[in-house]
Amino acid sequence: MKAAAVFTVDRKLGVVGDMPEPRLDGPADVKLRVLQVGVCATDREIAAFHFGTPPEGFGYLVPGHEGFAEVVQTGPEVTDLQPGDLVVPTVRRPCDDPACTACLNGRPDFCMTGLYREHGIVRIHGFMTEFVVDEARYMRKVPAAIRDVAVLVEPLTIAEKAFIQAEQIQMRLPWNRLAATAHGGAPLTRPKTNGGRGPVNGFAHHAVVLGAGPVGLLGAMALRLRGCEVTVYSREPETDARADITRAIGASYVSCLDCTPEWMAAGIGNIDLIYEATGSARLAFDMLNVLGRNGVLILTGVPGAHGREAIDLGALITNMTLKNQCLLATVNAGNDAFDRAIADLTACRVRWPDALHGLITGRFRLDQFETPIRNPAGIKNIVEIAS
Ligand code: BGC
Repeated sequence: MKAAAVFTVDRKLGVVGDMPEPRLDGPADVKLRVLQVGVCATDREIAAFHFGTPPEGFGYLVPGHEGFAEVVQTGPEVTDLQPGDLVVPTVRRPCDDPACTACLNGRPDFCMTGLYREHGIVRIHGFMTEFVVDEARYMRKVPAAIRDVAVLVEPLTIAEKAFIQAEQIQMRLPWNRLAATAHGGAPLTRPKTNGGRGPVNGFAHHAVVLGAGPVGLLGAMALRLRGCEVTVYSREPETDARADITRAIGASYVSCLDCTPEWMAAGIGNIDLIYEATGSARLAFDMLNVLGRNGVLILTGVPGAHGREAIDLGALITNMTLKNQCLLATVNAGNDAFDRAIADLTACRVRWPDALHGLITGRFRLDQFETPIRNPAGIKNIVEIAS
């Protein structure tokens, strides 16, 4: 079968045509026909040979971790999936250390050793190929209603994992705990008559999303579904398609070309949550100046080293302490975040179908995978492998 390949030693990209088609290896395995794979900044880093490790014995890595596939065969022990089902595979696989509590408990996204494997990234091939065999327990089932946008599930899981944690963190606020108990554990919707101070939904009334890429815009949609008032702050001008998508979901768009973070924040109430999806280290830390009281700043970018930059640490820590702020960094996602992403995408598909479709701006065949991976344009590019 055919597969995209990043030759990490020879430093080239290509399509291999002679990969053996995988067969079920164990009774709990499923075989998938890959339908679509999304391309993201991590893939670009891998294609630039900055990142990415092939599986043992291979001179290349098959890229692609944003998968969407159809089940074509199941092992005898698989009871919850059958041929024809649509699935999104999770990305990370556990390390082998029997002392890793996270991996032992099915949460390799919190792996304690760092020796995990990730499809298309670290030591396991990814999904830019025709068929994949993996254990059924790593598959999340997707309803046919979101078939056209299910390739966006994985990038949305980054936000979902972040918000699951932010909700837990904001349970530190006594009124959120009280509200949760009084409502049988469900989040409380507060009347918005408190002048915009304090969360409406257990974790954020006013939220700011940094970056209008797919991770940012999908995060903005998830926040809108939770009733947050959302501002997307990004570098594109206000006439850009990303700004149109932002407005279509009922959020505000502010371009950093026209407005400093301080000016942007001045137009908003207490900023309860900032979701950073730019990978810009400078912007992330500058945003701590505008984060509100009891607020949470979530980092999801991986900017890498950029050299030293001047920063007044004393002022930064003083401000954070006096405002009870939290800084949360998060990577990868567990089954809970995948399931929430699938549920939220289903809701978004009903509420904002055009905005959601507008995120997918480029479609490529497998033999064209080098174009979106090397020279990305638009918002989200996908590789279509089977229909
Ligand atoms: C993926 C994560 C992965 C991370 C780092 C991201 O692009 O979405 O699942 O853990 O890259 O490897």
